[in-house]
Amino acid sequence: MYDIGIIGGGTAGLTAAIYGQRAGKQTIVLEGKIYGGQIASSPRVENYPGVASISGSDFSTNLLQQAQALGAETRQDRVTEVSGEEGAWVIHTGSGEIACKSIIIATGVVPRKLGLEGESRLEGMGVSYCATCDGAFFRNMPVAVIGGGNTALEDAEFLSNTSSQVYLIHRRDEFRGEEALVNVLRNKENVEFVLSATPKAINGMEYVEELVVNELKTGGERSLEVAAVFIAVGHIPMNQTYASLVELDEYGFINANETCHTSQAGIFTAGDCRTKEVRQLTTAAADGAVAALAAIKYLALL
Ligand code: NAP
Repeated sequence: MYDIGIIGGGTAGLTAAIYGQRAGKQTIVLEGKIYGGQIASSPRVENYPGVASISGSDFSTNLLQQAQALGAETRQDRVTEVSGEEGAWVIHTGSGEIACKSIIIATGVVPRKLGLEGESRLEGMGVSYCATCDGAFFRNMPVAVIGGGNTALEDAEFLSNTSSQVYLIHRRDEFRGEEALVNVLRNKENVEFVLSATPKAINGMEYVEELVVNELKTGGERSLEVAAVFIAVGHIPMNQTYASLVELDEYGFINANETCHTSQAGIFTAGDCRTKEVRQLTTAAADGAVAALAAIKYLALL
């Protein structure tokens, strides 16, 4: 039986494993997709204290290796259910059952879809939710990015290095993301801000050929000839598997405060999947530490 079963191998989950192992607790980290989570596909991380600049993939690899070197077990497996009771939980996965005394849910979030005409039909044919994964397919071609947060700004910057033209479509006049990133984009000749505009439809027979946007100030429409549309309009939590186990808020985030305790004793949560104000790499790492320390305290009382 593991002391701490950690569901999710992103920054929060792997940090929890580091803290758990260093406290002499046997941890197992279950990851359904990519270790590192969202940050793994970030081109550059420049806001993590003490690390001036690093690629998201190097950051993730370092974090994974650090947890493994400390003895954390890591397994790529999808969790289907958690059953059991206080002190004796069972995590069900595609390949078996794992018994744990405590659990940390650190499942992160997934990209939000817009539900536009053409969006799902052309997914993988020019519609993408990951610029760093798919940007290279559109070298020297015009592309669009939708969104006004840091992800959209970073995506636009990344794509401007390879694509011929980048249209950045945002529904307001002001960006939500950092001013420093906006300024970088302002100085790029091949980046055009299309502001106060909402996407209406993505058109194309087999591949993306056009993005139509509504221009909110004029009430008119604009057609953008693009080969790809990168959608970066935020993320949603995938916590339904745990809905009968812990309390979720109306948006599906796990109800928890800065102590990372959930409504269920012995089950903790960390990172973007929980209710919180600031979802950043630093806060995910901080949550990982807090949740692991809370679990360790809980284990001492069992
Ligand atoms: P976000 O900050 O929530 O931004 C989502 C953007 O999409 C907003 O600009 C929003 O517009 C827009 N949007 C939402 N729904 C829309 C719709 N239906 N139609 C059109 N536009 C829509 O999400 P994010 O950019 O993915 O970032 C998530 C978190 O990760 C943030 O805290 C961010 O700072 C952080 N992050 C940090 C880094 C970094 O530090 N290097 C990199 C990436 C992300 P409004 O602004 O009008 O609401």
